[in-house]
Amino acid sequence: MKLVSYEINGKVRTGVLSKDEKWIYPTEAAGVLNEDMVGLIRRMDADLFAALQELTLKTAAQVSETVRPESEDPDCQMTDGPVLLETAALKAPITHPEQDVICLGINYMAHAVESARYKKEAFGGERPYAVYFSKRVNEATDPCGSIPAHADLVDSLDYEAELAVIIGKDARGVSKEEARDYVFGYTVLNDVSARNVQTQHKQWYFGKSLDGFTPIGPCILTADSIPYPPVLKIKSYVNGELRQDSTTDLLIFDIDHVISELSQGMTLRAGTIIAMGTPAGVGMGFVPPKFLKAGDVVECRIESIGSIINKVAR
Ligand code: MG
Repeated sequence: MKLVSYEINGKVRTGVLSKDEKWIYPTEAAGVLNEDMVGLIRRMDADLFAALQELTLKTAAQVSETVRPESEDPDCQMTDGPVLLETAALKAPITHPEQDVICLGINYMAHAVESARYKKEAFGGERPYAVYFSKRVNEATDPCGSIPAHADLVDSLDYEAELAVIIGKDARGVSKEEARDYVFGYTVLNDVSARNVQTQHKQWYFGKSLDGFTPIGPCILTADSIPYPPVLKIKSYVNGELRQDSTTDLLIFDIDHVISELSQGMTLRAGTIIAMGTPAGVGMGFVPPKFLKAGDVVECRIESIGSIINKVAR
């Protein structure tokens, strides 16, 4: 099942894609009123999940009947019914993460090699512990939104296609074996990075947290939709040129490891986004580097989830 956020009549709503992926059906048709995506994740239980799945099987005409407002009550928040996906104003599935996005650094071996080369460090080859950091996201960039170049601050703008895991229920003290039960679903995230800023400040946080540096989407693919752990092709393109080409089973530290390890000491709240790291092929990995410039179009694509396609603003 694919869940989306979309804007209609000036409001951001949550929806579920029809089975044929042509339509967005408002989750209100399954009885969800006034919830954003994090609210929807928090209140998800077996009954609501089943109701949403049932909704995906309906025709657009059937859904229109369900959502037709019958009440004159002005507080009755009914929607305008199904929307064609290809004409919809898709938003990032989680537009305003409640906490910083948790990120994995250097979590694909081939990316470790290219990063070390760029930083001119010796590459030891051993990675005994996962590298964690975070990324502030005041507002996630929409799946087709633009990435600000921040030309006054940034001379080496880079992209990082990543699989992002969405936590489905509060996780504390979770074992590796139980970790999969806490995965709500997956999305695509571009961990946009200002290499000069992260290098100057000896820390990734600032250089990865500039406004507009976190495109997410186009949907959340619920965890039940694919086998676990996910083995998905992950790619990125810049102006149509293939840059990153890997699969999500090449993670050094996998989803079980990360959820289990982090949850030993900190509660991962439902709705938490964990970006699992990027494979080789980012701009700094090329000799000479291929950084982004205004007007470039970056596509990050993960099999079964979809693509986010973002233009660097002038
Ligand atoms: Mg990253």
